Amino acid sequence: MKIKRMFIDGKWIDAQNGKTRTIINPYNQETIATAAEGDTSDAKAAIAAARKAFDQGEWPNTPAVERASIVQKIAELIERDKEELAELESLDTGKTLEESRWDMDDIAGVFRYYAEIVDQNSGEMIASPIPNSVSKVVHEPVGVCGQITPWNYPLLQASWKLAPALVTGNTLVMKPSEITPLTTVKIFELIEEAGVPAGVANLVLGPGNTVGSELSTNVEVDLISFTGGIETGKKIMQAASVNVKKLALELGGKNPNIVFADAEFETAVDQAMNAVFFHAGQICSAGTRLIIEESIHDNFIEALVERVKNIKIGNGFDEDTQMGPLISGEHLTKVENYVEAGKKEGATLVVGGKRPEDPALQDGFFYLPTIFTDCTTDMSIVQDEAFGPIITVEKFQTEEEAVNLANDSIYGLAGGVWTNDIVKAERCVSKMRMGTVWINEFNLYFPHAPWGGYKQSGIGRELGKLGLEEYTETKHIFHNTDPKPFNWF
Ligand code: NAD
Repeated sequence: MKIKRMFIDGKWIDAQNGKTRTIINPYNQETIATAAEGDTSDAKAAIAAARKAFDQGEWPNTPAVERASIVQKIAELIERDKEELAELESLDTGKTLEESRWDMDDIAGVFRYYAEIVDQNSGEMIASPIPNSVSKVVHEPVGVCGQITPWNYPLLQASWKLAPALVTGNTLVMKPSEITPLTTVKIFELIEEAGVPAGVANLVLGPGNTVGSELSTNVEVDLISFTGGIETGKKIMQAASVNVKKLALELGGKNPNIVFADAEFETAVDQAMNAVFFHAGQICSAGTRLIIEESIHDNFIEALVERVKNIKIGNGFDEDTQMGPLISGEHLTKVENYVEAGKKEGATLVVGGKRPEDPALQDGFFYLPTIFTDCTTDMSIVQDEAFGPIITVEKFQTEEEAVNLANDSIYGLAGGVWTNDIVKAERCVSKMRMGTVWINEFNLYFPHAPWGGYKQSGIGRELGKLGLEEYTETKHIFHNTDPKPFNWF
């Protein structure tokens, strides 16, 4: 088996310490690859390469349209290799092949979008209040960007960082999650093939506490963009203060999904499942806090449980599989502990709450889709991100109560409202403290709209025009076209 290597200064290399890591399929724990396991020294080498490419290379001064055509080429290569990329993603994460195919379409779309909009960030003329002057604002690349990604949507999260950083003329060092590096390695092959110059985009594989920590503390890194858990995010924020790096954080969520009695019942039931059970609930925007109007609560739960019982769990490569495993044994234990806490706290377990009994699934990290009713906001299962296939249900009687329950969280990533009363929907949305709110929809996103969190779900935005602006500094240029002595001194 070919070792998955790191890409530093245009060369594919092993870790300096010679270490490797075994990458396993969460469906059956079989080894699917061996990857280089770098450490601080590799991160330093990659940062030095990115620094040199930024300070002495052509990339920051390459015309934006030329950079855009390379980014466009990356999109084409992703489309060419879509099936291979989707298979790698499913092997590495356990998610269904169909979901991985959707991801690859989205990822190609992100590269295409940023290639297309690069000229929308060119700057502007200011109406100068000073006679005989020209005042203008330009946007320039930030410099060397450290980019750290999680395991749940490995290549999707990487694309949200790579495409805007490259098109705006930055250089970068990316560190994917050490347990899911495969598609990120592959995209660096495509980045090389597309013609990105050596040193501009570097890839270091390895753990967070060495490689990730070096990226966040090294003073040669100008910006750190991180997607992952809240505790890691706090560490990175602290570490980044060493040289006041620009900081972008996409952290967790504990997202409310409000269903009013006047919502279209079957659609709301169906979408309450979509809100959570894709990729076994390992989605930052999963609508895990279902908040139902009391008058329909019992019927809604009955209908939901009936559907949830029939979710087909299994190998993501089987066509009829609807939900794959959790990512790792460690994560499975975390989800199990979370469910135990829910039971102790007095929530009612109505379905799931254990691993499946099917003998064919015992080698994988599977967990049954789970629903707790009778939940209250003081319970840890309502407050903490489980990142598993779990719904907690709360009831409400008034609109105000629904919104208060929705907002009762340290997080503020996303939320949904289901109702046929559009005025009520808009009223709720205006009070919901989240970066994305869906009306009669859940979990939908596209490259044109910004993505990110209020409160402790993060800082900054990815995607959309704001996602491009994250990767630029803003410079005001003032030109006195008729300079004369001022004669004060
Ligand atoms: P994690 O925080 O454990 O790890 C994320 C990345 O950070 C990994 O690459 C890891 O190696 C690295 N890391 C770990 N410790 C580090 C340190 N001290 N310094 C620097 N880097 C370090 O998160 P995870 O378990 O991989 O991912 C799940 C989390 O990601 C969930 O909380 C989820 O909500 C969040 N997430 C958020 C979004 C979003 O858009 N807001 C998207 C996807 C995932």
